[in-house]
Amino acid sequence: MADRYLGFTGTAPGRFLTRRLGLPQPAALIRRTGGRPRFDGGLLHLTAGTSDLDLAPVLARTGLTPGAGHDPTAVVLDATGVRDVDTLAEVHAALHPVLRSVAVSGRVVVLGAAPDPADHHQAAVQQALEGFTRSLGKEIGRGRTVNLVRLADVTAAESTLRFLLSPASAYVSGQVIEVGDEEVTAPDDWEQPLTGRTALVTGAARGIGAAVAETLAGQGARVVVLDVPGAEAEARALADRLDGTALALDVTAADAGERIAAALPDGLDVLIHNAGVTRDRRLVNMPAERWSSVLDVNLASVLRTTDALLSSGALKRGGRIVATASIAGLAGNSGQTNYGASKAGIVGLVRSLAPRALAEHRVTVNAVAPGFIETRMTAAVPLLIREAGRRMNSLGQGGLPVDVAETTAWLAHPASGAVNGQVVRVCGQSLLGA
Ligand code: NAD
Repeated sequence: MADRYLGFTGTAPGRFLTRRLGLPQPAALIRRTGGRPRFDGGLLHLTAGTSDLDLAPVLARTGLTPGAGHDPTAVVLDATGVRDVDTLAEVHAALHPVLRSVAVSGRVVVLGAAPDPADHHQAAVQQALEGFTRSLGKEIGRGRTVNLVRLADVTAAESTLRFLLSPASAYVSGQVIEVGDEEVTAPDDWEQPLTGRTALVTGAARGIGAAVAETLAGQGARVVVLDVPGAEAEARALADRLDGTALALDVTAADAGERIAAALPDGLDVLIHNAGVTRDRRLVNMPAERWSSVLDVNLASVLRTTDALLSSGALKRGGRIVATASIAGLAGNSGQTNYGASKAGIVGLVRSLAPRALAEHRVTVNAVAPGFIETRMTAAVPLLIREAGRRMNSLGQGGLPVDVAETTAWLAHPASGAVNGQVVRVCGQSLLGA
């Protein structure tokens, strides 16, 4: 399962050989560790057009050093004021001279405004930033990421900027994230924002779910590790390690939502729908049971438990729902009509429910869409397809469960109340799909 190629390209002979042969040269990504929760390098703050954003105080709180000259770890380009093609040239003028110097595994974050339906010139150039960001992400290399944040209010976007400008977002690139202008309250402690909150993670005995539980617990949450009765021993071992509790439950049970609510009489703040299964086969060979089992675990149970926990009030006001989609649901994948349908269904659920859940319950609803993540699920993929899956993204490597976990934690953050209805791919900018 280990990515031996990545290890090889990290050695001098490996670098030499792969360069000579024109093979991908993935850089070892810098991820968040206990000792290194934030970057501590330089931050270059550039502007294209004229901007009203009061960005400097927020950027100063990221841990990076604003204005630090050479080899910046991060570049933030404020392009919110770009309204016409002439001013769009300032995006080129600002970034062209500095890109080469951005550190390995560094960050470029472009800030844009929502395209204005009443001004097609502004809408055209703000949309242009999307094509620009995705293209730059594909060419920048050296483990560096490029993302676009469309924001209306800089305070509401602080949790998002902190995430994108930290090692926590190592495998998130080529994304367009919209942040609204909901009022948000900053946590007392940005490193432990989930203190006092209860988070339930489905399918958390292993893989991505276990990493999510661990990351949320690391940020102060009391976690409930839910998994099928057959995985109870692993779920319990993890829960014990995280000072949480285990809940042995099959999410496809008709009364799963009620049983979760009964197990949590004090209610729930964060609901992570992570449990998922694959039963791959081309549609012509797929028996109905393979179809229905995947749709039941990956979509129907998510709809049922969400409805039950929202309508009963067990998911508290200010709560967060993060569901798990997949790039297979965005791009489609041969042999996965059932899985692709279920994961696209998650996207539909998020987009429809998000505005209503926020208006009626003050709950945000978002999804993560993992690409190729190194887990048991992908270890079972045949070797050649597995190797192609790992390399076919801008970062030239697979992601780790912790990458999905960090993205989930940002969406679950109490200060992420203005991030709603988003589907964020954690895929190293996979070539599959948009
Ligand atoms: P995994 O198979 O390693 O773990 C899934 C967990 O869900 C297991 O512990 C399993 O017991 C649990 N589960 C399955 N059915 C359940 C049910 N009915 N009730 C309760 N728990 C149940 O998978 P993973 O790779 O960690 O994937 C986690 C999620 O991420 C899934 O939704 C998957 O579709 C999605 N995803 C994974 C990848 C990847 O590359 N690994 C890519 C895209 C999306």
